[in-house]
Amino acid sequence: RIFAVQLNPLPQSSDVGAVIVLHDNTELRRLENIRREFVANVSHELKTPLSSIMAYTETLQRGAVNDTEIRDSFLSRIAEQGGRLNNLIQDMLSLARIEDQQQTFDIEAVDIAQVVMRSVDDSRPQANSKSIELVTPEDLSPVVVQADEEGVRVICNNLIDNAVKYTPAGGRVEVRWSKQGPQVLFEVIDNGPGIPRTDVARVFERFYRVDKARSRELGSTGLGLAIVKHLVQSFGGTVGVDSTVGHGSRFWVQLPMV
Ligand code: ADP
Repeated sequence: RIFAVQLNPLPQSSDVGAVIVLHDNTELRRLENIRREFVANVSHELKTPLSSIMAYTETLQRGAVNDTEIRDSFLSRIAEQGGRLNNLIQDMLSLARIEDQQQTFDIEAVDIAQVVMRSVDDSRPQANSKSIELVTPEDLSPVVVQADEEGVRVICNNLIDNAVKYTPAGGRVEVRWSKQGPQVLFEVIDNGPGIPRTDVARVFERFYRVDKARSRELGSTGLGLAIVKHLVQSFGGTVGVDSTVGHGSRFWVQLPMV
């Protein structure tokens, strides 16, 4: 534990000379460290794409602009890095809003079957481009949870999108849901690279990535799962992952039923 020591002299008339007061600062220090780490992470994450944009721009200004092939290639990289900055800022803002509980949720009856199938449709082009088999349930009858529809959409999108993103070409991603007592269990199962045991506990932390270089290459922000966790908790649910390296991952979410 971390203590702040305060020495208080007492009036001369008293028997003792001074009193030492110990303040337990452990929690304060922990929060301060989290804040400092967050600021460092944000600066780093913003600086990386920004440095690329500046480097490409300077090279173009120094004459590369006259070579049409280089110019087009650099311009598309600048646009790509700009897109990354935009995603990052959007994700940071939505995470901050959820964490500060400023986000107002419209808690209503949401049919998980419909929302999941829409997310699956959004991920289909990317899955097709990598020949990933996207498996969905045959029974699409409504299964209704108590949550905010847009929030559930973000949860489903992030988990399905990750599974498709991290699973190599030719792989398989299965999406399913089932009633489990008063809860609905939603699962996204892939046969991708899996997550090492030491990282599993940390993937829901902001900016945590198992393979930084590879994740960045895939245009990721490292914030998707942190957003998922906060949304699920806001709806009174739980989220987790079971994973085996070389075999794949199973991300699951439990949400209260109506
Ligand atoms: P990112 O934007 O990097 O995808 P996330 O918060 O969504 O951020 O995920 C955090 C990290 O968890 C990822 O960088 C990746 O290393 C790992 N991860 C997430 N989903 C999967 C998955 N289905 N298979 C393997 N690794 C995953």
